[in-house]
Amino acid sequence: MTERVCENCALPDDELLLVRRVYVVPETWDSPGSETVVPEPELWCVSCASQYPCEPADGDD
Ligand SMILES: [Zn+2]
Repeated sequence: MTERVCENCALPDDELLLVRRVYVVPETWDSPGSETVVPEPELWCVSCASQYPCEPADGDD
């Protein structure tokens, strides 16, 4: 069995979540903030998924 690692922190973890990374651009005085969702899903550990912006991805494929 292949050991699975978090694609964000690279630590092995049994419980990985399929998420899409979200790049958040904070709002500033001269521009509104924005969010860019990366289309390619990544496997993240629970810790990363709770600490970094992301959204759940479907695990169907
Ligand atoms: Zn992680």
